[in-house]
Amino acid sequence: MMKKQAKTFLISTLLFSVVIVNAQETRFFMPKEIQKAYINGTRSYDGKPGQKYWHNTADYAIDVNVNPSEKLISGSEKVTYYNNSPKPMNSLVVRLYYDVYKRGNPRSSSLMEKDISDGVRLSNVKINEKEINVENNQSVRRSGTNIIFQLEKPIKAGKKLTFEVDWEQKIPFSNRRTGVYDSTSCFIAYFYPQIAVYDDIYGWDYMNYILQTEFYNGLANFDVNITMPKNYVVWATGTFQNPDKVLHPSILGKYRKAKESGETIEVVSADDLKKGFSVLDSTWHYKADEVSDFAFAFSDHYQWSAAKQVVDGRDVLVSSAFPTEKEKDFKNLTAVQQKSMKHLSEDVPGVPYPYEAFTTFIGLRGGGMEFPMMANNDGPGTGVTIHEMFHTYFPMYVRVNEKRWAWMDEGWASYTDALIEKKYFNNKVSFSALFAQNKTQIDGFLGSNMDVPLLVNSQNMDQQSYFVTSYPLSATIYTILHHHLGEEVFMKCYRGYINRWAKKSPTPYDFFYTFENISGEDLAWLWKPWFMEFGTADVAIQSIKKNKLIVENLGQKPVPLFVDIMYQDSTTKSISKSANIWSKGNKTVEINLPDYKKITQLSVNKQIPDADNMDNFYPSIEQRYKGAKLSENIFGDYKIRNFVGSIVKDANIAFFEIAQFNMRIPLYPVSDIKLSSLDDSKSFEFKIDQSGDCTGISVDWDGFVLTGEKL
Ligand SMILES: [Zn+2]
Repeated sequence: MMKKQAKTFLISTLLFSVVIVNAQETRFFMPKEIQKAYINGTRSYDGKPGQKYWHNTADYAIDVNVNPSEKLISGSEKVTYYNNSPKPMNSLVVRLYYDVYKRGNPRSSSLMEKDISDGVRLSNVKINEKEINVENNQSVRRSGTNIIFQLEKPIKAGKKLTFEVDWEQKIPFSNRRTGVYDSTSCFIAYFYPQIAVYDDIYGWDYMNYILQTEFYNGLANFDVNITMPKNYVVWATGTFQNPDKVLHPSILGKYRKAKESGETIEVVSADDLKKGFSVLDSTWHYKADEVSDFAFAFSDHYQWSAAKQVVDGRDVLVSSAFPTEKEKDFKNLTAVQQKSMKHLSEDVPGVPYPYEAFTTFIGLRGGGMEFPMMANNDGPGTGVTIHEMFHTYFPMYVRVNEKRWAWMDEGWASYTDALIEKKYFNNKVSFSALFAQNKTQIDGFLGSNMDVPLLVNSQNMDQQSYFVTSYPLSATIYTILHHHLGEEVFMKCYRGYINRWAKKSPTPYDFFYTFENISGEDLAWLWKPWFMEFGTADVAIQSIKKNKLIVENLGQKPVPLFVDIMYQDSTTKSISKSANIWSKGNKTVEINLPDYKKITQLSVNKQIPDADNMDNFYPSIEQRYKGAKLSENIFGDYKIRNFVGSIVKDANIAFFEIAQFNMRIPLYPVSDIKLSSLDDSKSFEFKIDQSGDCTGISVDWDGFVLTGEKL
């Protein structure tokens, strides 16, 4: 509903106590499944969980045995599942994530041949203590990564069901979110039969795990026993329940010390491993309450360093698990995690880290992967450490449906990790820098047919659309929102959104309405073009006459304006305007230029995503090429690391292209042998030998220097 209508609605409710049952959103599209939730009162137009909001919960008791030499997991679990919905449930959907390795099942990308299996082997399946024949096609159906049971007796509203199963599966070798990272080190996730989500929007979630999107989970309590050979350390979600039974007294002492220490303690050191690490009891017992998943990791040659971080008066145990042969690389990892947790808790988003522990395990090659209280990362990088820890908030604490809208967690993670890293690890943060971070990845994508509205289910997107919309594009939209609302209001909305939806599952509309409700603003001008419609973001200098700069909006999506001016005496001035300058549907904006007679150069949005950068500069890029004497030899292909980049000429302008990433960056000449990107974040310097031939290139890419050979 419009803000005005909302006011009238409120007044009429107060005066006449009229209950409006068919209020509806008239400003923008809402899928019918979500509309129904507002009608039913499980969601509310003020962005808070509706008065009738509900979600189902579960208690898992799991015993798992790992045979690391055979790479075999066998488990046994009993789940108590609670139907908190207002209706009886006639079926039960259980996820078998490891069936993604099953021959013939759909996958978004390829796997190593040796991981392809016959899927998860199940036995002793019982529902409400009654044995179930999983081969009975009348009542049991295995489809993709789900197994669906038709219940003999429905679970009545407010009642519970028990589900028991034994299972066995191989640990995969493909470098994915879970699996084998070296012969005796594994990260184990998605490993237990898990009750799918049943919610107020879609009912059962039947979407398969296909290796693309990561989570949409219910809220559960976990009580897990992990049995391993005695020379292994096990790290897991939650609190380690029996350290005194498992750990040798010398290790136990250090573990206890770490829980009290602000400084990093080597709980299991290189020396401990050299002497032959062994435990007293081989079953590690972990418990975690009100989390959305459970994961664990093990190794016989990883060190364990740990310390406590005080969050809101509580002690949180922060751990790092890494290969002892690379000890030097990881000596600061625990301290980096402590610092990240502090600033996530106290500043952005500024909601206290909500659990009792966090462990970063070094396994995955390339990037990182989050689970509750656990991350599986490729290295000690600050960015990846903050990013994966941030995921605690989304999708773990606020259980967004990432299968449908991955931008609801990945966008916030990308946006927040950049902000925290720039502010607290590099001491340099600005809106320009936050926008610039994503510009290269977005510019070529904007307005292409890959650039689909964000409301499209993430799982149905191809890999490029999925990546750009989930990460850099949505991080950019959150930055636009932050820039528009200003520091104080934006942070109030961001924290309010997390606190309102903690442990619950918001839809995109709960996010939209919460930000509108807390800021008191109608933000339809932002939501509609950026989340629901096709279009592009593209501003251009239309004219400069005396002190009047007219900027034209050639696109459909609103972006802020950042005008950077340079004067004759080399001083500079920046002017910025919120993206809501376009909110009335106007196509031009007039900007007053101070000291216009002394202006030598001017740019509009050189660091903000823009589909066509060529028309954002004064003097024009074409003019900047006048007088440049670029050697013809610099044009061609270069081998830079493991990709090929090309310097190409188009209408006398040089571009840097990486065809495999659809990347095309316009350049301007700095000297006869040097080109720069228009935002000055990247430069390309050519090596010319005595005969005038170009032999190589030196690329400065956002501060990273790479060299390449001419092909
Ligand atoms: Zn992420």
